[in-house]
Amino acid sequence: MSRKIIVIMGVSGSGKSTVGNLLSEKIKVPFVDADDFHPKANIEKMSKGVPLDDEDRKPWLEALNKKMNEAQDENGIILACSALKESYREILSKRITWIEWVYLEGSFELIKSRMEKRKHFMKADLLQSQFDCLEVPNHETTIAIEEEPEVLVNTIINKMKTSSFGILGLGVMGKSLATNMLNKGFSISVYNRETPEEKGIVDAFIDENFGRRVLGFTELKEFIDSIQKPRKILMMVKAGKVTDTIIESMVPFLEEGDVLIDGGNSHYLDTKRRSDYLEDNGIEFVGLGVSGGEEGALKGPSLMPGGKKESYTKVAKYLEAISAKDEDNNPCCSYIGPDGAGHFVKMVHNGIEYGDMQLLAEVYAILSETMNNEEIATLLSEWNTRKHGSYLLEITSKITKEKEGDTYMLDIILDKAGNKGTGSWSSIAALEMGVPTTVKNAAVHARYTSSFKDERVRLSKYKNQAEHKEVVNVEVLEQAYDFARTVNLHQGFQLLKAASDEFNWNLNLAEICRVWSNGCIIKSKKIKEYSHLLKEVASLFDDEGVILNLYSQEAAARELITYTLQHRIHIPCFYEAYNYWVAMTTARSSANVIQAQRDFFGAHRFQKVGDKEEKTFHYNWS
Ligand code: NDP
Repeated sequence: MSRKIIVIMGVSGSGKSTVGNLLSEKIKVPFVDADDFHPKANIEKMSKGVPLDDEDRKPWLEALNKKMNEAQDENGIILACSALKESYREILSKRITWIEWVYLEGSFELIKSRMEKRKHFMKADLLQSQFDCLEVPNHETTIAIEEEPEVLVNTIINKMKTSSFGILGLGVMGKSLATNMLNKGFSISVYNRETPEEKGIVDAFIDENFGRRVLGFTELKEFIDSIQKPRKILMMVKAGKVTDTIIESMVPFLEEGDVLIDGGNSHYLDTKRRSDYLEDNGIEFVGLGVSGGEEGALKGPSLMPGGKKESYTKVAKYLEAISAKDEDNNPCCSYIGPDGAGHFVKMVHNGIEYGDMQLLAEVYAILSETMNNEEIATLLSEWNTRKHGSYLLEITSKITKEKEGDTYMLDIILDKAGNKGTGSWSSIAALEMGVPTTVKNAAVHARYTSSFKDERVRLSKYKNQAEHKEVVNVEVLEQAYDFARTVNLHQGFQLLKAASDEFNWNLNLAEICRVWSNGCIIKSKKIKEYSHLLKEVASLFDDEGVILNLYSQEAAARELITYTLQHRIHIPCFYEAYNYWVAMTTARSSANVIQAQRDFFGAHRFQKVGDKEEKTFHYNWS
C-alpha cells in the first residue's frame, strides 16, 4: 500500500527542516532531512565553500530515492530536500507512485538574512548559486515563507486536501486526459455524474489510480469546492445542450476569477455565446480544441486553446505540460486567439481530417480493385516510411491487414460512414465565408452518400460489371495522393485566413501548423514542412516551390482520374482537388457567362474586362 511521500523543497535557508518537522508532528508521517544523506565528500566540499556539481549530487539523490521507495511501502516520508532542478526531481521520483512537492518560496534577501542569523554548513554566499540553478517545478504546492512555520504547515495541510486542477467528465477523453495529468505530477479532482444505468465510474477511476493524488466526486459542489482557487476546470463532455446544462449547474458554485475550459468539440459560435454568458458571471472561459483521440489524450494531445489571453495564461502550464511536443520539444499547445478561435481551428482541423481520411478510403478503393489487403498494407506502409510520415496513412495501413479470425476487418465493417458534425460545420463555415474548401466538402458528401446503403445496393444491380481490370500505376497514385493532400491543406488554411480576417483573430498559421505537427490525427511530415514554410509566406500558393510541385503532379492526378473513370471508382476528393487546381490556374474562367446570365434575368450588373475603376454595368439583353 502506498503511503504519503512529501518533499519539502527550496533553496537552503528557506525553512525546509523546520516546516518538515512541524508537518511531521501534525500528520504523523516520519521526517527525514536530505542533508543527512550527503556522502562525506560532498559535506567536505560544501564546508570549504565549493558548490556541488550534478555528478556530486547523483549518489546523494539515488540514496534518497531508495529511502523514499522503502518509505512508500512503510509509513511514508516527509523529506526536506533542496531538489532544485527538474533532473534531480526525476531521480527522486523514480518508481514512486505519487509525490506531493511542496515548494517553499522566498526572496534572495529574505533567505540570506535568515541564513546569516544561524549556523549552517552551507555558507550564505553559496546561496546565489542555488538561486541560479533553481528550476521552479510546475506542479508544486507553492508556499510563500513570510509567515510563521505554524501557519505555513496549516496552509500545506489544507492544500493537500485540495487539488490544483479539476476534470469534469470521465468518458473516453476525460479519463485519458485525467491520467495524463496525473502522469505529469499534477494533483487533480475528477467528477462524473451517476445515473441509474451507469454507476461507479468515479470509483473505478480512483481504484485504477490508487495511491496517486486524485480526489473523486459525483456531487458537483463538492467537486468544485475541492479545487484550489482560482479554480481551473476542464469539461470533457458531450458537445451541445449537455455542455450548456452542465455550465448552468456549475455557475452557482464558481467564483470570480475561476477558469472553465471546454475541451469538447463545441461549435465556435456556442463558445463565444458561453464565454459572454460566463463573463457576465465573472467566470473566465477557454474554448479548447483537443485532437489526438483516446491515445493522444493519454500520451499528449494537440491542444488549441481560445478565449482571453489572460485566462489562457492561468491554465497554460497545465495544458502545455500534458500536450504533445513538437520536433524541438516545444508543447503542441499554443494560444490561438480570442472568443471561439480555438474551437474554430479544431473544426477546420477536423475538416482537413475528413478530406485526408476520404482520400485514403479512395486510395484503398482503387488499390483493392487489383491488389489484396496484405499487398495494400505493405504499399501504404512503404509510402509512409519513405515519404509521408502521416498518422492517418499509418493507421490505414494497419487497418487494411487487420483480421478477426480469418476475415479482414474491412470485410466485416459495414460501408456506412458516421459523423458527429464537425466536418459539416467546417464546410458550412467555408460556404458562409465564401472560401472554396471543395476537398473536405466532397468528403462530407461522401460520408452522407455512403449512408444510403439500401438504395446503393438496389441501384447497383442494374450495372454491367467491368470485365477487364488494369492494374493501377502506384507511382501515379502516390503522386496524385500527395497532390490532393496539398490542395486539401491549402483550402483549410485559406478558411483559417478568412476567419481570422472576419473576426479579427490574428491567427498565426505557422504556429497552428506547428501545434498540429504532433499529437493530432492529421500530423504528418507535410504539416511539419508547412509549419516552417508558413513563417515565410501567407499562403501556400504564394510559394513557388509549392506551385511548381503541384504543376509537376497535375499529370498524375489527371491520369488517376482517367483510370478511375474507366474503372468506375468513386473518388470525389481526388476530383475536387484536381478541379480546384485547374480552376485556380485558369486565368480566364467561365464566370463571364454566369455574370451575363445574372444580368440577363436579374439586372445584377457586371464589371468589364480591363476596367481599372471596377465600375458595374447593365446591358439591355433583349
Ligand atoms: P464520451 O461519450 O466517452 O464521454 C462523454 C462524457 O460526457 C461522459 O463523462 C458522460 O457521462 C458525459 N455526459 C454525457 N451526457 C451528460 C449529461 N447529460 N450530463 C452530464 N454528463 C454527461 O465522449 P468523449 O470522451 O469521446 O468526448 C468528450 C468530448 O470531447 C466531446 O465533446 C467530444 O466531441 C470531444 N472530443 C472527442 C474526441 C475523441 O476522439 N473521442 C477527440 C476530441 C474531442 P456518462 O459517462 O455518465 O454518460
